[in-house]
Amino acid sequence: MYKAFLIKYAEIAIKGKNRYLFEDALVSQMKRALGKVDGTFKIRREQGRIYVETEGEYDFDEAVEALRHVFGIVGICPVVILKDEGFEQLLDEVVRYVEAAYPEKNFTFKVNARRARKNYPLESMEINARVGERLLEAFPELRVDVHSPDVMVNIEIRNQINLYSTVIPGPGGMPVGTNGKAMLLLSGGIDSPVAGYMIAKRGVAIDATYFHAPPYTSERAKQKVVDLAKIVAKYAGPINLHVVNFTDIQLYIYEQCPHEELTIIMRRYMMKLAEHFAKENKCLGLITGESIGQVASQTMQSLAATNEVCTMPVYRPLIGFDKQEIVEISEKIGAYETSILPYEDCCTIFVAKHPVTKPSLNVIHNDEKKLAEKIDALMQEAIDTVEVIHIEA
Ligand code: ATP
Ligand code: MG
Repeated sequence: MYKAFLIKYAEIAIKGKNRYLFEDALVSQMKRALGKVDGTFKIRREQGRIYVETEGEYDFDEAVEALRHVFGIVGICPVVILKDEGFEQLLDEVVRYVEAAYPEKNFTFKVNARRARKNYPLESMEINARVGERLLEAFPELRVDVHSPDVMVNIEIRNQINLYSTVIPGPGGMPVGTNGKAMLLLSGGIDSPVAGYMIAKRGVAIDATYFHAPPYTSERAKQKVVDLAKIVAKYAGPINLHVVNFTDIQLYIYEQCPHEELTIIMRRYMMKLAEHFAKENKCLGLITGESIGQVASQTMQSLAATNEVCTMPVYRPLIGFDKQEIVEISEKIGAYETSILPYEDCCTIFVAKHPVTKPSLNVIHNDEKKLAEKIDALMQEAIDTVEVIHIEA
């Protein structure tokens, strides 16, 4: 019965030019999301409203599902759009609508009319009262509840008349493309896909870097990261995933440096390489899934040591989250099932029995000197052999 959706969006206190940027980005993200859905969709903007109008047959559930992945949308309202053919006609249409939309009539309701067009012959309060009356006449089982109705019958009088009673929640946030781009350090774990999701939710486009260490990490581990990138891309849009062969760097650090410092030194080189690709791709920051105290490499001292090598801002949206809170978001965005598949990533292979939890920068600097002979060439080799995979959901 629905041939259109009315899209509600927020954060729109944003004024002037920024508002257009926001709406432009929102429309283009909606087009991207709907591009994969069966049907023909047209997006129309009108007076601070965005409508999705359909032509012919389309898959309702798929369309809703696609729109639920578009940041910036706070509500998706399946809407019946009517021509204004007089108030009597409107009363009949509302009765027809309730008849079709609610097979069971034992609910409470409220009519919420709004006139965006002030020359309409009736005022909102009058419309509410008369539509309510007519509905009670047509369906005597209905009850009015003005405080917490089961069904809110919304009637918006514009050049056209919008009739809707369902608001399907959207993901909120800001449309991707309104806030530049950042480079996500994406591993096969639970945290980093969630971190990418959270920054993308603020309107930031995402590229990603994954460090793999064949043969210590398998093709399956890499495939898992590709799958996770696909899940993030459902929300964030296309992602260029940089797969960096990290094996030789890791082995070299393993040979030259004390094993308890391995993870920290390794992480410093990961950040340096990620920053290289970030700059190359016009990213304005790095993103990691780190959270204070989660593991030895995420104590305040370890984070300081990792952070020291970066010149770009490093965004750590999970920094104050407990694991359980991260798991909940992971489940909500549909990444959890993939994240817990048991393929080793390169960090879990070379872990020391007793990694330092309070690395001293002086000690780390000294030990890194032991890498002087070959590390630049190995870094260059890693850069030269990067594989870039274009990921679309
Ligand atoms: P995750 O669940 O995201 O793997 P984690 O709790 O296992 O995180 P670490 O392994 O210490 O934590 O990694 C911290 C962060 O460093 C990750 O969230 C991710 O951003 C980045 N990272 C770790 N390993 C890799 C990797 N192999 N490739 C790319 N980034 C990585
Ligand atoms: Mg990890």
